Amino acid sequence: MRIERIETAEVHIPLRTPFKTALRTVETVNDIIVKITASDGTVGYGEAPPTAVITGDTKGSIRCAIEEFIGPSLQGMDLEDLDGIMKKLHGCILKNTSAKAAVDMAVYDLFAKSCGKPLYQVLGGHKKEIETDLTISVNDVDEMVRDSVKAVEQGFGILKIKVGKEGLKDMERIKAIREAVGPDIRIRIDANQGWTAKQAVRIITAMEDQGIEMDLVEQPVPAHDFQGMKYVTAHVYTPILADESVFSLEDAIHICQERAADLINIKLMKTGGIYQALKICGVAESYGVECMTGCMLESKIAVSAAAHLSAAKGIITRADLDGPSLCKTDPYEGGPVYDGPVIRMNQTPGLGITGVPVFG
Ligand code: MG
Repeated sequence: MRIERIETAEVHIPLRTPFKTALRTVETVNDIIVKITASDGTVGYGEAPPTAVITGDTKGSIRCAIEEFIGPSLQGMDLEDLDGIMKKLHGCILKNTSAKAAVDMAVYDLFAKSCGKPLYQVLGGHKKEIETDLTISVNDVDEMVRDSVKAVEQGFGILKIKVGKEGLKDMERIKAIREAVGPDIRIRIDANQGWTAKQAVRIITAMEDQGIEMDLVEQPVPAHDFQGMKYVTAHVYTPILADESVFSLEDAIHICQERAADLINIKLMKTGGIYQALKICGVAESYGVECMTGCMLESKIAVSAAAHLSAAKGIITRADLDGPSLCKTDPYEGGPVYDGPVIRMNQTPGLGITGVPVFG
């Protein structure tokens, strides 16, 4: 089974409500979809969102990287040589992690189909379902409280609250949400690089002193501020999760060695796909650093690849894979089932996605 053809297309899916973080506001999932056709006619699917403010990837750069560099490099390669394909994929162009991720997951989809098993089983896993949180966008306090209560009513037991725009005012938001949802709901905070190290310690400590339980605080300081991250991790009790600070395997090694964070957020769009993510899992495992899987504004194809990885790896103990839950519609057929907080893994081969209308 050889890689015969790599095609790209665009998908547009409206979001239920605008997605707002400290960095941006988005209203539609507008991603590049990849289809790889093998010599026996089997197809594999991948997806990449253009998250320019985080990964630097745009729709144009993703398409160009795939059509002009990655496609010609991988064409004709035998799927049995998975390691060789992955080395070529990561060697033929630097950075461009979203483009690589889309092709990587399509290759894994095909590889798992050639084994006749769901991808998570091919990756050595056995979890039949995983639990995701739901993201609550940054808005005024009342709106965030309303959104949080609604999420709990829909069955979500874990909320991820976006903050980081207004320093101490963020504390008010978290306090109000905690009071509204009660003590049993797990609350994750994502500052998206919005605080300085000292601000972060001040806010997190103040919340700890008031007895406001937080599951974790994600990326309190700018991605490049490694010392700041380490300072925050050392000065608060709440677990600190590195997101924008960890793209590569080397970033993960650095964070683990220096204990600069307690947890690592693995996103396929940062790592360049499953192949590199598996290496990060290996490093994290050896240091005993638990991981969370996250997504950008992705629809079911890319999020399902992350779900399969999560279902495969014991070191991944948390999932923030709410992309499909934020979308108004699901244009695909097959794949894992997204049922509120529960993601039930498909038992069909590969990622399980069987129909992608943009390819006709
Ligand atoms: Mg984050």
